[in-house]
Amino acid sequence: MHSDLYDITIIGGGPVGLFGAFYAGLRGMRVKIIDSLPELGGQLTALYPEKYVYDMPGFPEVLAKDLAREMIRQAMRFKPTVCLEERAETLTRTDDSWAITTHTGQVHYTRTIVICAGAGAFAPRKLNAEGVAAFEGNGVYYGVREKSLFAGKRLLIVGGGDSAVDWALNLYPIAQEVTLIHRRDEFRAHEQSVQELRRSPVKILTPYELRRVCGDGTVERAVVFHNKTQDEIELPIDAVILNLGFVATLGPIKSWGLELQGNQIVVDEYMRTNLPGVYAAGDVCTHPGKLKLIATGVGEVCTAVNHAKSVIDPTAKMFPGHSSDMELPAL
Ligand SMILES: Cc1cc2nc3c(=O)[nH]c(=O)nc-3n(C[C@H](O)[C@H](O)[C@H](O)COP(=O)(O)OP(=O)(O)OC[C@H]3O[C@@H](n4cnc5c(N)ncnc54)[C@H](O)[C@@H]3O)c2cc1C
Repeated sequence: MHSDLYDITIIGGGPVGLFGAFYAGLRGMRVKIIDSLPELGGQLTALYPEKYVYDMPGFPEVLAKDLAREMIRQAMRFKPTVCLEERAETLTRTDDSWAITTHTGQVHYTRTIVICAGAGAFAPRKLNAEGVAAFEGNGVYYGVREKSLFAGKRLLIVGGGDSAVDWALNLYPIAQEVTLIHRRDEFRAHEQSVQELRRSPVKILTPYELRRVCGDGTVERAVVFHNKTQDEIELPIDAVILNLGFVATLGPIKSWGLELQGNQIVVDEYMRTNLPGVYAAGDVCTHPGKLKLIATGVGEVCTAVNHAKSVIDPTAKMFPGHSSDMELPAL
């Protein structure tokens, strides 16, 4: 048996995977979460952080990013292992367990799996302008991991959605100056954030796009162009942050031998797939009566986890009892 064998590995750290991690911790399982993105939260964080969600039990209205934050807090209660920026690529059977290999070459050993991959692995939408690929990670970034990296810098932010506007607002107080370009005159971001942006010292250029990034070893300039007149402006800058949304692909999971219906994994009433010890829950799965909602997805993952528990420990009951009757470690 492999020394680093987990009881359960959850592929996908969106709302469904997060609740699955909490629930598996509650059942005393050794839990790992793998996600391709640099942060947890799935669609809530990646696609609509500033939108209100109105159909979560107990929350008459909650911002998606706040819901994600609380779901992450709940998921971390039993301290699962979290592996970010790893896209699960291959699945192989080893004795009575599984080995998941990710695109970084890391191998994860596990007795059971719950695939909570939503619409698939998210990756930032890339821009094909001159110099962008050459400076990626060294002056050109898809998103922000460490705000301090941009302190005192002249920044160019590209995009018109919530992420672009939020980062412009978040970074101008620490940056030397911030320019935001967007290819349309209207921003997609939350109206209140756009109003705040217009009152801020951020320089806004619309409808402008990025033509090239230049510099000798480090980023020194960007050339942007008005997409109707083609007029160019050269901006002296130190870094570019591209917020162009995400693309999702189920990709490699499709070749794991799972029974599929279109882009979805077929499951039975216990959320079992056709592979032993492999379950699926949330947006990625399908069954009669399927609804793609967070409320139903978290129910599905409870069923999957409880069934997985009863498989790896035949003395364990499928029904765990009520959490209100249990003593839990502090948050
Ligand atoms: C604009 C918008 C508004 C919405 N509003 C609501 C609402 O009000 N109420 C509601 O209930 N639902 C709403 N939804 C739907 C809801 O967001 C989804 O049902 C929910 O996010 C599904 O959760 P999930 O965990 O199954 O998948 P996701 O949230 O998609 O998370 C899946 C995660 O798996 C990761 N992943 C996928 N493949 C791999 C791989 N191979 N390796 C590693 N990681 C991988 C992805 O990177 C992602 O982080 C909305 C959706 C959108 C787009």
